[in-house]
Amino acid sequence: QRIQQTEFMLSAPTFRLCPADEGLEVAFAGRSNAGKSSAINALTNQRQLARSSKTPGRTQMINFFSIETPETRLVDLPGYGYAAVPLEMKKEWQVELEEYLVSRGSLAGLVLLTDIRHPLKFFDEQMLHWAQDGELPVHILLTKADKLKYGAAKNALLNTRKQLKKLGLSCSIQLFSALRKEGIDELAGVMGRWYEY
Ligand code: GDP
Repeated sequence: QRIQQTEFMLSAPTFRLCPADEGLEVAFAGRSNAGKSSAINALTNQRQLARSSKTPGRTQMINFFSIETPETRLVDLPGYGYAAVPLEMKKEWQVELEEYLVSRGSLAGLVLLTDIRHPLKFFDEQMLHWAQDGELPVHILLTKADKLKYGAAKNALLNTRKQLKKLGLSCSIQLFSALRKEGIDELAGVMGRWYEY
């Protein structure tokens, strides 16, 4: 059940300017450089739909795309983790982000991306706890799985599962490689269930 139709809707600098809280949306989040843009492009089979921002500290946008229907959206959240972003901006952004995850009615699920070579970092765990507070289902992608041999990739998957269990978090998790186009069907399946189409 691959995604056939994707369209750019709008970019919003803050959640206050995002589309009306109707229909269903799935948000993509992760540290900068986690492979989020590559994953969105692979998922939607587009070369340049999502662009990675390589400029630390630049005001980043929340990008909305329609997926299959105008009522089902993909939300590309700004990558986090750049130390160069001023602390106050970070704080303000975090308050908004938490509110979005906890109270956005149309938000049906969160896809959290993390580089398979690095375990979940502090802010990833923070995101997972907010999602849990909002009773939001989470699906984790261990990205760039092609960087590891199969056995090592499987180990990373098991270790991350253990880490999640220890944190008291329940989420689904999979290996993903945008480079090798691996894991796309599994991801599309999860999103299809969230979108209910
Ligand atoms: P973003 O900042 O999270 O949007 O990350 P990007 O999608 O821009 O990817 C960051 C870097 O990782 C880029 O140099 C990509 O080429 C690389 N990358 C992304 N996905 C993969 C993948 O599946 N395999 C490999 N080997 N590299 C990847």
